[in-house]
Amino acid sequence: MAKTTEISVEEKLRQLFTLQKIDTKIDEIEVLKGELPIEVSDLEDEITGLETRLKNLNDTVKDIEKEGLKFTTKISEGEALIKKYTKQLDDVKNNREFDALSKELEMQKLEIQLAEKKARENGDKVAAKNAVIKEVKDKLKIKKANLDQKKEELEQIIAKTDKEEKDLRKSAQVAEGKIEERLLKAYHRIRNNYRNGLALVAIERDACGGCFNEIPPQIQLEVAQRKKIIACEHCGRILVDEGIASMAVEA
Ligand SMILES: [Zn+2]
Repeated sequence: MAKTTEISVEEKLRQLFTLQKIDTKIDEIEVLKGELPIEVSDLEDEITGLETRLKNLNDTVKDIEKEGLKFTTKISEGEALIKKYTKQLDDVKNNREFDALSKELEMQKLEIQLAEKKARENGDKVAAKNAVIKEVKDKLKIKKANLDQKKEELEQIIAKTDKEEKDLRKSAQVAEGKIEERLLKAYHRIRNNYRNGLALVAIERDACGGCFNEIPPQIQLEVAQRKKIIACEHCGRILVDEGIASMAVEA
């Protein structure tokens, strides 16, 4: 506590501006990566979804095919019975037996017809599911190719910037450690308010370097004195004179 109160406003501004410079460099790397990290994770989610769908479809086809086996069995059983009854017809002893066998034969023929109809329907179901499976597979192929491409792009950027980014993040951490919490919070709050992430700006040609509104001479004088932390009355960014800006440590 004692240490932070000892730090002059000038020193605080210099430290903040140093942090701002580091953060701006990190921002530039993030811009370079752009939407790629989000696109990659979206594609990964989509692929997982499609793979689950494909697995479910394959399971359904297996179930339908299993059901189909019942009909095939029924047909071959029926055919065997017909063979048996037809043979028995050769040595019937009376009309009653003949009628009974004929009835059984007729029955088996109908059973086979029914089983054949169901087997056909089942085959249609399998074909329909297989068509969907093909669609999903095609889609999956496209998404995977897309993912590979995006990943490669991202990896290339990361390979180029990874070390720099890690070093910058480390420097930012060190810089943040020197700044009192209240000020750091304000810095991050202002930074988050603006797309360009600038929380501290220098006064350039009598204007705020953030919003370009004119800064009155009295305020400029106070900023140059470095006795108070002064925010631009238009955009809320912390103002520094060009001297502070040039004093900031290079990251
Ligand atoms: Zn401003």
